[in-house]
Amino acid sequence: MSPLFVPGPVDVAEEVLKAQTQAMMPHRSSDFEEIFHRSEKKMRQIFRTEQRVFINASSGTGMHEACVRNLVNKKVLSCANGAFGMRWHDVAKSNGKDVTLLEMDWKEPLSGDKIAEALEGQDYEVITFVHNETSTGLMNPIQEIAQVINDVSPNTLICVDAVSSLSGAQLEMDDWGLDVVITSSQKCLALPPGLGFVAVNERAFEKSKTVQNKGWYFDFERLEKHRLKDSTPATSAVSLIYALDLQTDRILAEGIEARWARHSAMADKTQAWAESKDFILFAPEGYRSQTVTAIEHQGFDFKAANAYLMEQGMRMAAGYGALKENVFRIGHMGKLTVADLDELFTALDKFQSN
Ligand SMILES: *Cc1c(COP(=O)(O)O)cnc(C)c1O
Repeated sequence: MSPLFVPGPVDVAEEVLKAQTQAMMPHRSSDFEEIFHRSEKKMRQIFRTEQRVFINASSGTGMHEACVRNLVNKKVLSCANGAFGMRWHDVAKSNGKDVTLLEMDWKEPLSGDKIAEALEGQDYEVITFVHNETSTGLMNPIQEIAQVINDVSPNTLICVDAVSSLSGAQLEMDDWGLDVVITSSQKCLALPPGLGFVAVNERAFEKSKTVQNKGWYFDFERLEKHRLKDSTPATSAVSLIYALDLQTDRILAEGIEARWARHSAMADKTQAWAESKDFILFAPEGYRSQTVTAIEHQGFDFKAANAYLMEQGMRMAAGYGALKENVFRIGHMGKLTVADLDELFTALDKFQSN
């Protein structure tokens, strides 16, 4: 099987796909609860937290919604330098929250100074931002940013979208003072789509007890009550939990740090290839993503190149949303390796010499 170089849904290992075909179990049976229990424990290691992780039948965007529903009575600051930061803002707005958008240049990392300025003298309950902007291939310096927020506005809860970075780039939820971190299954974790994860620390969980109109499905208090019984309020995505149990074993067997290093090597390889072909990378040096590279078209016939790749079972991704005509993207996340990228670049070199 030839690989997909897209930023999700990514290729899933054969044995992980097969794990999903095991017979169903009732989600309220001790057999299932045991699997759920150990899967959650392993996810905590991947989030680098001692706190709870809620595992939901949802995509990542559902976790955007869960954060604003559970943590914001009124005021939230959404920072954005790409399409997914903008999405979190839209989600907060459509949930009727008093949301302020702090949009910054999409070609620059989020600025701690500008965030500090926006927080000054305000009483935002929550601030949202994205670790790895999948739309631009830019990785924000979230450790620095969290430090700034904790200095300037210590009562503001820090919510981070790590949908396309968790397990592909360093993120230390507890050590970096992040209150809530979200991800979904179909990106770096290399699982099929359908699971949304939200890691919630004690202070955020306590805050959720004071928030009105949390809805039912993603209510942290209800999720916690069932998590303590190793289950979910509504039916779990049982087949996906089988896959999660196996895939988290595989991730921890590789080692989190080794997994970060593999992604970093793939990013280096991709950037070096692009620069050797005189392509321009969208994100600035020092802030380039470890999991996806966005490359400016500059007259390159992306559609024809991708059609050529697809004949060989490979594919890259077009630009996302507003960037569709400006960039194309090479995903290098999940189970991919530098050897897979060699195959891709060999094919692309052949395409270009034709
Ligand atoms: C893919 C993605 C999302 C949206 O996740 P879904 O699982 O598609 O809902 C959010 N944020 C980032 C950074 C993403 O890459």
